[in-house]
Amino acid sequence: MNQAVELLRSRGMRVTPLRKCLLGLFLEKRGPYSAAEAHHALGSCDLSTVYRALESFERKGLLVASRGPGGVAVFCIQPSEPLQHNHFECRKCGRLFHFHCSSPIDLLIEEISNANGFEVRDVELRLTGECSRCREG
Ligand SMILES: [Zn+2]
Ligand SMILES: [Zn+2]
Repeated sequence: MNQAVELLRSRGMRVTPLRKCLLGLFLEKRGPYSAAEAHHALGSCDLSTVYRALESFERKGLLVASRGPGGVAVFCIQPSEPLQHNHFECRKCGRLFHFHCSSPIDLLIEEISNANGFEVRDVELRLTGECSRCREG
């Protein structure tokens, strides 16, 4: 079965052609996409329908919402590893990138958790600067 259809059904959500395409887009590309970008990628559909679908995906834990360039809401597929959702925002071109990072962040989180008595469930590390393309150009 189509993975998007499977996920929608597993969350008890009605499968519509738009939901299927939209979730398929995130499964394939991961995001981050704003509602406008997702709408653009899908082609002919209604922006407010896309927006509502994104919000319902977020409520069902299929997508994670974050703040993108200019404070606009962006959505990413819920990562399979909960402690790995990191964004880098390029201040020059405004693009948002995902990056992976390994042990040092785990140690940092452990230190923060121990010092404050927190139990950390999700981490969104956000770095800003200039991406490799902007640095070269
Ligand atoms: Zn993301
Ligand atoms: Zn850039």
